[in-house]
Amino acid sequence: MAFKLEGPETEEEQQVRQETHRFAKDVLRPASLKLDKLDPQSVIAKDSVLWDVFRTWYGQANHVSTQVASADIGASSNLYANCIVFEELGWGAADLAISLGVAGFPFELATPIATLMGNQQLLDEIIEPFHKDREGKIIGCWAITEPGHGSDTLGVGTDPFYKPETAGNCRARQDGSDWIISGQKSAWVSNGTIATHALLFCTIEPTLGMAGGGVFIVPLDGSNVKRGNALDKLGQRALNQGEIYFDDVRVPAGFLLGGPELYPVLLRATLASANSGMGVIFSGLARAAFEEALDYSRNRVQGGKTIADHQMIQGKLFDMFKMVQMANIYSKQAFLNNAINAATDILNNLADPTAHLPALAHCIASKVTSTQIAYEVSHNSIQVFGGMGLAKETVIEKLFRDARAALIEDGVNEFLGLVGAKQIIESYKI
Ligand SMILES: Cc1cc2nc3c(=O)[nH]c(=O)nc-3n(C[C@H](O)[C@H](O)[C@H](O)COP(=O)(O)OP(=O)(O)OC[C@H]3O[C@@H](n4cnc5c(N)ncnc54)[C@H](O)[C@@H]3O)c2cc1C
Repeated sequence: MAFKLEGPETEEEQQVRQETHRFAKDVLRPASLKLDKLDPQSVIAKDSVLWDVFRTWYGQANHVSTQVASADIGASSNLYANCIVFEELGWGAADLAISLGVAGFPFELATPIATLMGNQQLLDEIIEPFHKDREGKIIGCWAITEPGHGSDTLGVGTDPFYKPETAGNCRARQDGSDWIISGQKSAWVSNGTIATHALLFCTIEPTLGMAGGGVFIVPLDGSNVKRGNALDKLGQRALNQGEIYFDDVRVPAGFLLGGPELYPVLLRATLASANSGMGVIFSGLARAAFEEALDYSRNRVQGGKTIADHQMIQGKLFDMFKMVQMANIYSKQAFLNNAINAATDILNNLADPTAHLPALAHCIASKVTSTQIAYEVSHNSIQVFGGMGLAKETVIEKLFRDARAALIEDGVNEFLGLVGAKQIIESYKI
């Protein structure tokens, strides 16, 4: 049941929902359930159904999202419809929704920056080929976490972020007008095993701690780039993850989106976009978990009537419904707020490190709220199923595992709360 605060969804929005739901139901969900049962290397094998998913998705014009809106893109697109797309993808399969979303993310973040800076090299060599790709050949990833730096990398605004001892180990140094990159990103990089390009967050000026970073677009096709094996994990098993090793990888100056002077702003924008996207995707998963419970309760008979006729189950269903609606509405609001503000903040307020604060706090709150609700609703849904909720043949046990992973993904929820709190304390106007 779709509910929009401003009134009913328009005809165009309803059509986007129906089309994306069909893709989520007929392509994404079955592929994800199949991939979930494979070992991680088989997930990315040449004959894997994963590639059918990428080809189908890229085959449609709307694979290019406007999560990070530019003045150009944002103005001409329906951001609410964009929200619907991610909600429905999350309903189908959160792991593949994230894989597809991350695939476009480096190019989407780079678009407004390259346009504003007049960076024609980046636009021609990297961004345009992605926008033209209809076969799923150009795939992005966001490489920020290192084996020795997890939460540290996301702690923008917190004290340790500015201390030299937290500086990352993956580093870039200048050589003439080029940059040379060396070091390792962790096994947690989503799409790390298949990506053709990385949105790389690494260290340029270690004396500034984590804040002394730079953001690069790095093509991953050279022999100086090596990959680790695909990571084996509890949930979101269709989302491939793996290490990336950089051994003196040379990139031109034009592939640097911003150095230490811009790093905190770019990290805030990236974290806000990633977290607001996660909020919407996991509101979709929460809805899927609720619908599984509702459907099962209408059919399962105990005590001579359907379990939906038992008051204890009715209480659970209403509680789930209520939480799903809260996740749905708040995550959409945060997503829209961020998409509208992010580009303007990056482009117009580069010199002001506090420019992106309000959107970031809401985006973090949305991610934390939606993932926690997705986890609780899928947990309660398993209770409604009884023993069947634990059986591998049901969808709900996978939804539960996928939701569990999200409490850590894109920042541990508790730690993100510290980043959000810092922003609120510094910038909330009473
Ligand atoms: C499914 C999934 C997808 C991911 N995708 C990506 C990706 O695409 N790219 C990428 O680069 N990374 C990715 N990650 C990595 C993710 O961002 C990190 O796992 C996360 O930031 C936490 O880092 P960590 O696992 O090293 O935990 P740690 O940072 O070691 O944290 C361990 C515990 O200590 C707590 N803690 C840590 N620091 C502090 C502090 N200063 N104060 C108080 N408590 C603290 C944490 O809250 C946590 O409970 C992904 C992770 C998952 C699970």
